[in-house]
Amino acid sequence: MSTLQIEGLRVAVGGHEILRGVDLELASGEVHALMGPNGSGKSTLAHALMGRSDYEIRGGHLRLDGEELLGLPTWQRAERGLFLAMQYPVEVPGVRAIDLLGVALRGRAASADAHGNGLDARLAAEAERLHVDAQFLARGVNVEFSGGEKKRAETLQLAVLEPKFAVLDEIDSGLDVDALRDVSRRIEAMTDENRLGVLAITHYARLLTELRPDRVHVLLGGRIVQSGGPELADTLERVGYEGLAAELGVEDLAVEAEAESDPFADPTLESNPFT
Ligand code: ADP
Ligand code: MG
Repeated sequence: MSTLQIEGLRVAVGGHEILRGVDLELASGEVHALMGPNGSGKSTLAHALMGRSDYEIRGGHLRLDGEELLGLPTWQRAERGLFLAMQYPVEVPGVRAIDLLGVALRGRAASADAHGNGLDARLAAEAERLHVDAQFLARGVNVEFSGGEKKRAETLQLAVLEPKFAVLDEIDSGLDVDALRDVSRRIEAMTDENRLGVLAITHYARLLTELRPDRVHVLLGGRIVQSGGPELADTLERVGYEGLAAELGVEDLAVEAEAESDPFADPTLESNPFT
């Protein structure tokens, strides 16, 4: 049994405080949903947990089984058992998915050996389970993948790497119903078979009909303003974020920060210099 504790986490980007004290605790095998409107800081939380270097940590703790992770580089957090599926997976031309996974797994030889079979066989089995065409694995990571293929490929990485905790940033965005079902079922199975703990970030309740959460948290204006059981997602569908904000007396739904060049931002937006 492992625990991931986020305590009083405050994070600034470009001098603006985006997360203003986030508390959340997750245990092995649990699924927690983090919901919030656009701009409320969901992706900022995901990146901060993984240790993106241009995010300024202004306070708080992130502990995995009691060990402080803040201050550790991303690869060490991954080694400790943290995984992030990004909202907009990055394309890496020239690096094959299969090679990337091989390197990542060799960093954790023990877990690879425990399966007693080679990476190729593992990948082939996962590809079949997730309906990913095996030839994708031999192409550049995410290069010319459709939105749905990227999310299936991220889920495949997750399944092969077997982390303790996975943060899924809008894994449902851009997925058709079939892909959503495949991806959710695979993740749900991991929570049972591997006791994977999941923080599923989404702004739609749709994902949560497939991937059933134990707890639902609502992020508004950089803080978790309400937590509850699965019924909270239904309430949100009904009243909307604005309705909930009004009920709770929260004034600012989103946190305003200058839109700067963000390499992990929505690539369809004009402000992105990488498109
Ligand atoms: P969400 O994922 O909930 O839609 P984000 O965490 O992406 O919200 O964004 C929260 C706020 O932080 C927004 O105002 C956004 O413009 C800002 N922000 C996020 N990342 C950056 C960045 N790299 N540079 C500048 N501003 C950023
Ligand atoms: Mg986001």
